[in-house]
Amino acid sequence: MDMSWQVLINTDWHDYRGIAKDEDRLLKLLKPGWESLLQDWWNIEGLEQPKPEVIGALQQLRTLLQRITGDMIRGREIAKHDLDELNSYLKHAPSYLLLTHEEDFTLQRVPCSSDWTWLLGQIAASFATLLAKHDLTRVKQCSNPNCRWIYYDESNSKRRSWCDDDCANMMRVRRFRERHRLA
Ligand SMILES: [Zn+2]
Repeated sequence: MDMSWQVLINTDWHDYRGIAKDEDRLLKLLKPGWESLLQDWWNIEGLEQPKPEVIGALQQLRTLLQRITGDMIRGREIAKHDLDELNSYLKHAPSYLLLTHEEDFTLQRVPCSSDWTWLLGQIAASFATLLAKHDLTRVKQCSNPNCRWIYYDESNSKRRSWCDDDCANMMRVRRFRERHRLA
């Protein structure tokens, strides 16, 4: 599954220990080292360094994805205007099918232009694919209130409550202490 949507949502970062200040990690794209981040996050290279307007557009898409995942997690209906907004990202990132032939034929979908508008469209497309083709009850938010990381629970039992072992261990310790304080 293309997890580009999850990467974007979690650039709104919170320290799972509740110590460090909240951080908008998208702002790191304005600083040196942005190219390797782009590679790590979305496996993309060859784009120009984003201008502040582009960061603004990414933040806006992130807010939309946060709102929709929030509705999903709380079992609420997804608003029509949110769906329309998501579709507008898809519409502005056109692509076409390209057939190539080396030893075998390969058919792949390639973007009409490789720019930030296209990347926004790709991220929106990864999210649209999640909505249309995957189990939405697996979309969760980490139960550690300091963390709030959004993830897709791929466990067999579908009962994972934490984004990773760090949060799971910390919450176990916290609950253990609370029990003992009450005893
Ligand atoms: Zn967590």
